[in-house]
Amino acid sequence: MKKLILLLCTISLSANLIDQENKAIQWPDGNTMAISLTWDDARDSQVLVGTPILDKYEVKATFYVVPSSVERELEGWKSAVLNGHEIGNHSLLHPCSESYPWSRDNAIEDYSLNRMRKELIKANVEIEKLLGVTPTEFAYPCGNTYLGRDKKIKSYVPVVRKLFSTGRTFADISSNDLDLDFARLSCVIMDNKDFKSIKSQIEHAREQGKWLILGGHEIGHKEIKTDYLTNIEMLEELLDYIKNPTNKIWTAPVGEIASYIKANNKN
Ligand SMILES: [Zn+2]
Repeated sequence: MKKLILLLCTISLSANLIDQENKAIQWPDGNTMAISLTWDDARDSQVLVGTPILDKYEVKATFYVVPSSVERELEGWKSAVLNGHEIGNHSLLHPCSESYPWSRDNAIEDYSLNRMRKELIKANVEIEKLLGVTPTEFAYPCGNTYLGRDKKIKSYVPVVRKLFSTGRTFADISSNDLDLDFARLSCVIMDNKDFKSIKSQIEHAREQGKWLILGGHEIGHKEIKTDYLTNIEMLEELLDYIKNPTNKIWTAPVGEIASYIKANNKN
C-alpha cells in the first residue's frame, strides 16, 4: 500500500513538473485554455455593432479606450459598462511612432516618461468622469512600448507596470503562458482574419494551456474597406465556438483572467 501511495505521489509530482516545464496555466472548471476578446480606440462601430453581438452571446470583452473618442457615442459606452464589458486605458492622445505619417504631430518619440505617466493618469481621470469606472488595464497605442528617440529611447513598460494591473501590446505571434509579463501581455490580431485562421491560433494555444488575447479595431461586414476590421462573420463563428462547452474555453475580460492567474498560478 505504501509503495502504491509513493508511486501515485511520484506520478502526480512528475505531472506537475511537466506542466511547469510546459508553462501551462491551470484553468478553472476543467477548461483547457482562456481567451480574451479586446478592441482598441473606442471606435464607434464597437458599440453600434459589436457590443450588441457580444451581448447576444453573453460574452464580456475588454475595450481599451481613448477618452475623447468615448464622447462620440457616450450612451453606447455607458450601456457597454452596464452590460459588464471591461473598460481599459488606451492613453490620452494615442501617441505612436513617427514612422506612421499620421502620428508625426503626436509622435511617441517626443514624449518623456514623466509626460507619459501624467497623461496616463489623466486618461484614467477622464474615463472615470465619462463612464464611472477607473481602468486597471492598459493597451499600448500601436503596440509601441518605448518613447523618445535615438540614444534617449526608453521603455515605458515600467510606468505601465506601476500604474496598471496589466499592459497589452499588439500584433504578436503567440499567446501567453506562465512566462508572461503582466505589463507586456501579447495580443494576436483578429482584424481582417477569417475564422479558420483564428481557429488555428486557438488550437495552438489549447495544446499548451495558454491564454490567447485577440485584438481588433472596427467591427463590421467585410465589404467595408479598412485594414482594421473585425469581420462580423468571423466574430459570430468565433463566439459560437468559444461558447460551445465541449471546446472547454474560458472567455473573460483581461482583468478577470489576469487576476485569476495572479491568484492561482504565479508566485
Ligand atoms: Zn489604438
